[in-house]
Amino acid sequence: PDVINKIAAGEIIISPTNALKELIENSIDASSKSIDISIQNNGFKILQISDDGSGIKKEDYPILCHRFTTSKITKFEDLSEIDTFGFRGEALSSISHIAHLSVTSKRRNEDLAWKCQFERGQMIDETLKPSAGNQGTTITVSDLFYNVPSRLRSLRQKDEFNKIFDVIGKYAINNPGIAFSLRKIGDSRIALVIKKDLNIKDRIRTIYTSIVSNDLIDFNINVSAEDTDDYGKIGFISCSGMVANLNYSNQVKRNIQPIFFINNRLVTCDPLKRSIDQTYSSYLPRGASRPFVYLNIKLNPRILDVNVHPTKSEVRFLHEEEIINIITLRLHEFLSKLDS
Ligand code: ADP
Ligand code: MG
Repeated sequence: PDVINKIAAGEIIISPTNALKELIENSIDASSKSIDISIQNNGFKILQISDDGSGIKKEDYPILCHRFTTSKITKFEDLSEIDTFGFRGEALSSISHIAHLSVTSKRRNEDLAWKCQFERGQMIDETLKPSAGNQGTTITVSDLFYNVPSRLRSLRQKDEFNKIFDVIGKYAINNPGIAFSLRKIGDSRIALVIKKDLNIKDRIRTIYTSIVSNDLIDFNINVSAEDTDDYGKIGFISCSGMVANLNYSNQVKRNIQPIFFINNRLVTCDPLKRSIDQTYSSYLPRGASRPFVYLNIKLNPRILDVNVHPTKSEVRFLHEEEIINIITLRLHEFLSKLDS
């Protein structure tokens, strides 16, 4: 069973970046306003995330890393209306099977933080100790994949820093009101600082330094069920974001892949990406760099299939073609107004 757990865990947690994404989502789910990340060896030696969120109850520690244990679903019906990221209860469990995991957490109104280590899905009892600490949770993942040498060999450790930076940047863009930071342990310079009050446009410019202010323009749509009969089955589509303006020039070579969040999950959606590229192609000069697009899309949770794959990055939803058409048609109209 231990081998099976390890293999299953290795399919859910495929890289330091992917572990970090799960941990960031947990911090956001816990209503954190500040999320600080520290790494050593690009997250392979140490990957640490500290938040100021709600914290974990001491009595929940023993089951924290049990597979399919989650505090986020109480009723079975909730499954169709999940709006928090996590619901599988697999992230911490998986990480504990392929790394050393330490958790320190303090709830508001509690006097003490509790610190504990986990191995292979189990709390190591004798390590549960009271500890000093501010409100919130610190999770430290050390020696990721120490027992999965094939995974270690297959990852290019050098590439991981950019991926970590990238995923933090995207969550920072989609979560204005939350402060983020990234530092390399032992490095006096902080790699990324996003202050709590920084607005979305300035977050984007901090992360993608080749973008200037008037490259970007707000893009919002709201389609409700009443609009036409056809949309009735979709329920609603809302979308807010920041997209390339028509002066998005080719002076600097930029190829920033579009950023999509659907119901607050960072996802990839190739059909939407292609459709957006095509929409822009009639407005930008030939050979212009790929337009920057960030969309925070909200769909009726009932039409989402969040169960596609444990890593949950490629999203699937019902009426996909129709929804993509609606979004890109609105984008088309929006751009044509800018053009006139
Ligand atoms: P899930 O997010 O699917 O519930 P996880 O394995 O990611 O499963 O987390 C298990 C549980 O641990 C969560 O349901 C939550 O109760 C608790 N937890 C994890 N990280 C945090 C955090 N940063 N703050 C508060 N609680 C957390
Ligand atoms: Mg989770």
